[in-house]
Amino acid sequence: MDLHTTDDAVIRRIRYFTERERMLRENDLYFYNQPVEEIRGGARVLVRGREMGMYASYSYLGLIGHPRINKAAREAIDKFGTGTNGVRTLAGSLTIHTELEETIAEFKHAEAAVTYSSGYATNLAVISTLMGRGDYVLSDKLNHASIVDGCLMSGAEFRRFRHNDMEDLEHRLQQVPEGAAKLVVADAIFSMDGDMVDFPRIVELCKKYNAWLMMDEAHSVGMLGKTGRGIEEHFDLWDSVDIKMGTLSKTIPSVGGYVAGKKELIQYLRHASRAYIFSAAIPPAQAAAANEAFKVILDEPWRIEKLRANAERFLTGLKGAGFDTLYSTTAIVPVLCGSDERAFALTRQCQHHDLFVLPVVSPAVPEGLARLRATVLAAHEPEEIDYALEVIEKAGKEIGII
Ligand SMILES: *Cc1c(COP(=O)(O)O)cnc(C)c1O
Repeated sequence: MDLHTTDDAVIRRIRYFTERERMLRENDLYFYNQPVEEIRGGARVLVRGREMGMYASYSYLGLIGHPRINKAAREAIDKFGTGTNGVRTLAGSLTIHTELEETIAEFKHAEAAVTYSSGYATNLAVISTLMGRGDYVLSDKLNHASIVDGCLMSGAEFRRFRHNDMEDLEHRLQQVPEGAAKLVVADAIFSMDGDMVDFPRIVELCKKYNAWLMMDEAHSVGMLGKTGRGIEEHFDLWDSVDIKMGTLSKTIPSVGGYVAGKKELIQYLRHASRAYIFSAAIPPAQAAAANEAFKVILDEPWRIEKLRANAERFLTGLKGAGFDTLYSTTAIVPVLCGSDERAFALTRQCQHHDLFVLPVVSPAVPEGLARLRATVLAAHEPEEIDYALEVIEKAGKEIGII
């Protein structure tokens, strides 16, 4: 296909994008896909030859590179090699997979757990396997894209309720026809805004209307609860989530996704979800790393406390300087900028002062709500956070955000 002489809808889309990227690059405003050259311990990384403080990572507890986790991964390679013999259902299951699934079930206070090769695939698989034509899925407006895609793929009636608005959810539950299966699904901590779902109320509504409750704990495992077990521990409301979904790629420094729940549900997913049956198992090193990481979280509770103190320090500082951080109460901190251009400008200033932080602009967030999506980590020292605050405040004033 010659991109210069042919003209069709696909080529027009590609050209439109190429032009926008070129403009951003010319103005030093293209920040995506920058390779990290080196991890320097703590929360410092080398990018384009400069050492920067990391404020864009999902490794909230700072577990990437943890010696115990690295060792577990190496030992798994020595024992099993680097790949599997295929899909889990056939020859791909290893003892390290079943060990990992037992660890997850125990960590999440569930009877059983099943893993998939990514969090994204997990949401697609679980929602589209359980739900189908004639069923109803009710999903928070700000839910992660993988949930949205799972809902679309399922063919079920897909209703989006206003963000964290439990009145709107109840209204929509009341509209579901008698006898139809219902699934309510939400992020426990929302990935762009850093706020927490109204968990007690959503649990109550699901009980009242006999709906299945699915929680995506991608950002809440390791962040919420005294021992990092997530949203149920935070509210001391155990056994209230039917489908406990999470990823192994954020606080857990590996790759993969999981669902924990009742034994029959998990066994059904193992035999009915296509992403499990038709896609290769998690590689041994990554399964072992994930397995060890859950244990490290329990053995090193100071990380959770430090993460919380760091998040509070960062949020308080930003609010004090006059920034709008929406309803965030967690280590995911949106720093609202307004227009996409302002978000790009603030990012550029931060990166010039060695803060590796990234912008989120439309269409990922609504127009006018472009932002830095900063994350703090347990690995940050208080002085590093104070330095970051100084840089962001100074730049925010120059650009006219505050
Ligand atoms: C990151 C994320 C996922 C996808 O997980 P991956 O392991 O990266 O595929 C799913 N849900 C939420 C809320 C996420 O933030």
